[in-house]
Amino acid sequence: MANLRFHLVKEAFDHQVVPAQKVGRKVSDYYGENVFNLSTMRRYLTSGVYRKLRQSVEQGGSISPDIAEQVARAMKKWAMRRGATHYTHWFHPLNDGTAEKHDAFIQHADPGHVIEKFNGKLLVQQEPDASSFPNGGIRNTFEARGYSAWDPSSPAFIVDDTLCIPTIFISYTGEALDYKTPLLRALSAVTSAALDTCGLLDVPAGKVVSNLGWEQEYFLVDEALFSSRPDLMMCGRTIMGHESAKNQQLEDHYFGSIPKRVVEFMKDLEIEAYRLGVPLKTRHNEVAPNQFEFAPIYEETNLAVDHNLILMDLMRKVAPKHHFRVLLHEKPFAGINGSGKHCNWSLSTDTGINLFSPGKTPHDNLVFVAFLVNTLMAVYKHNALLKASVGSAGNAYRLGANEAPPAIISVFLGNQLTRILKEIESSDEIKLGDKARLNLNIGLIPELMVDNTDRNRTSPFAFTGNRFEFRAVGSSANCACSMIVLNTAVAGQLSDFNAALRKRVEGGEDKIKAVYSILREYIGIAKPICFDGNGYSDEWKQEAASRGLDCENSIPLQYDAYLRPSSIELFKQTGVLNEKELHARNEVKWETYTKKIQIEARVLGDLALNHIIPVATRYQSALLDNLYKLKTLYSEEDYRALSVVKSDKIKKIESYMDDIQTFTDAMVEARKVANKITAEREKAIAYHDTVEPYFSKIRNKIDKLELMVDNELWPLPKYRELLFIR
Ligand code: ADP
Ligand code: MG
Repeated sequence: MANLRFHLVKEAFDHQVVPAQKVGRKVSDYYGENVFNLSTMRRYLTSGVYRKLRQSVEQGGSISPDIAEQVARAMKKWAMRRGATHYTHWFHPLNDGTAEKHDAFIQHADPGHVIEKFNGKLLVQQEPDASSFPNGGIRNTFEARGYSAWDPSSPAFIVDDTLCIPTIFISYTGEALDYKTPLLRALSAVTSAALDTCGLLDVPAGKVVSNLGWEQEYFLVDEALFSSRPDLMMCGRTIMGHESAKNQQLEDHYFGSIPKRVVEFMKDLEIEAYRLGVPLKTRHNEVAPNQFEFAPIYEETNLAVDHNLILMDLMRKVAPKHHFRVLLHEKPFAGINGSGKHCNWSLSTDTGINLFSPGKTPHDNLVFVAFLVNTLMAVYKHNALLKASVGSAGNAYRLGANEAPPAIISVFLGNQLTRILKEIESSDEIKLGDKARLNLNIGLIPELMVDNTDRNRTSPFAFTGNRFEFRAVGSSANCACSMIVLNTAVAGQLSDFNAALRKRVEGGEDKIKAVYSILREYIGIAKPICFDGNGYSDEWKQEAASRGLDCENSIPLQYDAYLRPSSIELFKQTGVLNEKELHARNEVKWETYTKKIQIEARVLGDLALNHIIPVATRYQSALLDNLYKLKTLYSEEDYRALSVVKSDKIKKIESYMDDIQTFTDAMVEARKVANKITAEREKAIAYHDTVEPYFSKIRNKIDKLELMVDNELWPLPKYRELLFIR
């Protein structure tokens, strides 16, 4: 076994660099070539059909069967020219990935012959059965059917030989069974509420767009080493392993030169991503050894979410070509940084205005402050819900672990903005009526913003000059989850603001004064969410609790936030999710949490009892044997002195093994008790409270043994072997 480990490590180090494919064309020449995008549509559709399709997409109208038929034919023609033989409805079920079921284009023609066919009906709607996807009970009723329906707002694309058509996935009775359905509803809610706000504030706009730019962090490990770690293979993270003597202390990896083998992987990935229209812009080393990041140019949120899922899938596919496995887990290794997926978010207009950008005139800045303060209010009111949106079994190991945002949501604004908001809050109406004063309050923001580059890395939700950066999102997450909540919360808040403003204006108040007065009130209310200090400190935890912010640490209990009356009301008011959907989705969340912890517990038990204890026993026997044999060499007195040290070591090994056995037995017992619970919420709580706490106890003893046992006997690749790609 030991020899096998050494062999694998050597192999990992000896891997030849696999050069990335050569394209021989500029990126702009092949960018989006596998996407049925607007320019391709224009080529393949008649101008009338093209115009009608664009109109429906832009205005959210329905698409007639006739248009769908023509689009389907054009898609098939284009896809077959690009070598596609199959098509699939591509959707985002309530698990970590995407779903696809490939169907060939062929249909029977004359007996013994086939022809390629694809029509509008197949494009628009399908019933992919897919009954095994999590649905939280919605499909247990008599009408258990699930339908996928075409989302024309995100373009179809080709992966390998398959035409992928982005779709939503809903039940026969119309409830969402996926992430895309509520995301589209949330985006529609936020963009129409924001457009209404723009109208009220005299911002010229025909449309508002929600934007997302994600930053995808990930780890790479050598494929052979990955394969000999059952925990990596089955849980996506190491559940044991002593820290390497050198890890990230020297900060020599962050932004360092990227290892050759990794660069070639990145290049290959970028080529595939560009073909699929994913606008990757940035690649770099992250803080931890073997940790890297990709970030695209931001896009409309629905498209950006699709693109992130496409990228994660591509990463998994391309990595093995370079003898790597990609780890998207939030905390693959203890003791070094975990991976997040910062979600940069903003709202902008079709007239080119970023609603979170301070402008040049007092009016621009009034608009900026209005959107900023409303976002503060939304985050304040729904901080527990936002936290629940990023909560997962994996992210729990990362959040609050002193390298990632804490498990408390707060907003970082920076000195200048904080001062400006304070001034607005404290200035009275008479002064606000005064032009000079108005300028002082709002007009100077652009100048001040120039310096506002201080980045507080400990903040989970930071204002970064012209956007908010939601940093608590986990690396493996579908960003739709957090984007649904954020956009819905802001939609609800903007609607409240619009209504309040209308009421005052209708009551005869001056509009600008009314805006000020409402914002002033909001700043006062939302103040507790603003925090620019060190989010890692213990003082902040106490302070946050005294401010009434949600400090719940248990993931299963965090999910309760979705079912608070204020959340149910918010989702109902915005039309994003009804109560039945919320309940069903929480069932899925609890069930998923339980399953993840259950799998980890099983793998840990297996490794502890079948890998670690036998090896430690073997080493201990060798030590014992040695101790007995030494007796023949020494006088009784000398031997006694010498045996004290040696037998201490043997006893220590015994006591660690004993603890591992005891804790593992107890963990298995706790699991048995938890498994008997039928309610998903209670089961998840039991797993969190009674099973998961054994993980660190068992691991701690195993990691101690790793330092004692003969290196040659140790069965699992060690951190120092996993973490340093040459
Ligand atoms: P960081 O310094 O946080 O790494 P980057 O410059 O790498 O920031 O950008 C991170 C992401 O933010 C990118 O995807 C970028 O396109 C995106 N981004 C930039 N401006 C905006 C904006 N106005 N709205 C949304 N995302 C944006
Ligand atoms: Mg970055």
